[in-house]
Amino acid sequence: MSTPRIIVHCDLDAFYAAVETLHHGFDDKIPLIIGSDPENGRGRGIVSTCNYAARKYGIRSAMAISEAWRRCPGAPYGTAIYIRGSRGLYSRASRKVMKILKQPAEFFEQASIDEAYLDVTTYVGGDWDAAVALCRDLQSSIIKEIGLSASFGIASNRILAKMASEINKPKGIFRILPDELSDFFEGRDVRDVPGIGKKRATQLHEWGITTVDEMYAYGELSLARITGERFAAWIIRVYEGRTSSEISPLRSRKSIGKEHTFNYDRENYQIVLENLLSIVRRVMKSAREVGVSGRLAEVKIRYTGFETHTHGRSIPVSMDDDEVFTSLAEKLFANNVQPDKKIRLIGFRLGNLDTPKTKQTRLLAILEEE
Ligand SMILES: [Mg+2]
Repeated sequence: MSTPRIIVHCDLDAFYAAVETLHHGFDDKIPLIIGSDPENGRGRGIVSTCNYAARKYGIRSAMAISEAWRRCPGAPYGTAIYIRGSRGLYSRASRKVMKILKQPAEFFEQASIDEAYLDVTTYVGGDWDAAVALCRDLQSSIIKEIGLSASFGIASNRILAKMASEINKPKGIFRILPDELSDFFEGRDVRDVPGIGKKRATQLHEWGITTVDEMYAYGELSLARITGERFAAWIIRVYEGRTSSEISPLRSRKSIGKEHTFNYDRENYQIVLENLLSIVRRVMKSAREVGVSGRLAEVKIRYTGFETHTHGRSIPVSMDDDEVFTSLAEKLFANNVQPDKKIRLIGFRLGNLDTPKTKQTRLLAILEEE
């Protein structure tokens, strides 16, 4: 068997709440709820997320905002802080964190706005103690440079690393060594395994199975009779540490796109085109940041009255060049825009993603010759 990879999963702690706390200078001991307007307890929306102080009152994501208010009212009836939240703040903070996390990773994958996988096998020379030290360094860099707290899980594959990052949250670091798997799973609730939801857990409970080791003890064949073959085979692989350790930005992304809605519908195509080209540059910047290139360019035009068209074109090899894609986008726009209509929205999407191993800048010359 080949030597196991050393995979790190980093998950920021109560990310949105932490970013807002930092930005507004809130006291993190005061419950902070991010979501729709509570309207003094009569609001009909939901909680999008909250900080740890609010979680102590049992407030959770997706709870009715009125229920959160009942548990922990805001001014003038209580001390909790309710805010709507601001996307821009989160993506800026996320970008700074990812920049730090990327450095020691031979393979890097941003899994969501506040989560990333790193393959650090080479960086730590296969040393599991060095991996713990590295996570400690990354954790303190993220606190020192950005002011956010993060938890880390270290294991030989993705799913185990993800489970490990949950163990000592917040500000946790937890390592599962490849030969400690059966200890780790002993008495561990089946719900702790990502991918096992409420329905599956209930089904297992009916057979008296509540922990992962009980599930394994059933054996693949008996378990398959309860859960189906696919699940049984998968959970056995999880228990034995035989699931994927492949870290690749392509796993989390199918395409990268951005769009812009104008304040009022535009008929000046020069302005629309300038907007489009700046969107293309931003998309390509994101692509390079996450380490992908693409083969498909797609321009989206929405006219007054929501009539929407997308116009696409593929190139023979995947690339991450500004020039290639600004020139493609410009052509797609010029060839397809309907001159008698006003434009409400313009967008660009890079698809058919790939990791850039070879770069063929000569393609630019080919495109220009047309
Ligand atoms: Mg998180």
